[in-house]
Amino acid sequence: MDKVIITAAITGSRMMRDVAPHIPITPEEIATSAVEAWQAGASIVHLHVRDPETGLGSQDLDLFRRVVEPLREKTDLILSLTTSGIPGRNLPTEERLAPLALKPELASFDAGSINLGGRVFANSPDFLDDAARMMREAGVKPEIEVFDLGMLVTAVRMRDEGKLDDPLHFQFVLGTPWGAPATPKSFLHLHEHLPADATWSTIGIGRGSLPMAMMALILDGHIRVGMEDNIYLDRGVPAKTNAELVERVVRICRAYGRDIATPAEARKILGF
Ligand code: ZN
Repeated sequence: MDKVIITAAITGSRMMRDVAPHIPITPEEIATSAVEAWQAGASIVHLHVRDPETGLGSQDLDLFRRVVEPLREKTDLILSLTTSGIPGRNLPTEERLAPLALKPELASFDAGSINLGGRVFANSPDFLDDAARMMREAGVKPEIEVFDLGMLVTAVRMRDEGKLDDPLHFQFVLGTPWGAPATPKSFLHLHEHLPADATWSTIGIGRGSLPMAMMALILDGHIRVGMEDNIYLDRGVPAKTNAELVERVVRICRAYGRDIATPAEARKILGF
């Protein structure tokens, strides 16, 4: 089995301090939390930035730069920058893809539309074509986020049409209230449609976090944890840092007998 690539999703775009009292908001807080997650064993960080005034997700390039630059100085992390902004706000394509200018190794690629947080998170065929082309031009590998089977089918078709390059890298997002549930059966149904040479990682939202991590652990996949997806360490006990969530899953992986990939090892596994 490959070593496990742990991705830490540091903050997301919408959860505020009333719900998540320890969630990083400012660029400095986000960068610090990412460094801590790296020290705990994460080799990838998935990054959103927040408008420090409102706390809401933003695609402002300067805010991204204030997170990316210190991380490149202090760590060898693989950076995965979001292209969603706030799902449901549906920013113009150029704004959503603005972070590509910083040449991250990965960027999120949401391979279809879905209801999220009371709105439609729109990822039209035209948007997906544009995003795939712009990522290829920028030398950025798409991290294909899959909320249901249609998104996986879409990505594979785009690969067949020459719009996405092998090996594809998938991030399964299970347990949103509007997409595939975070159950073993639901996950296995998605898993059996993966192309043979694809790499993949799982996210379980909220209480689905550990169950989906365990599916990845036993099926030779990779794992994403972090406050974007789940803020609890235990029932009613919020994590104080992203590092705590990384540490827990690192402990479980080691106990099971799968080592944790360094960023250099993760780059090899992902085919960079
Ligand atoms: Zn995200």
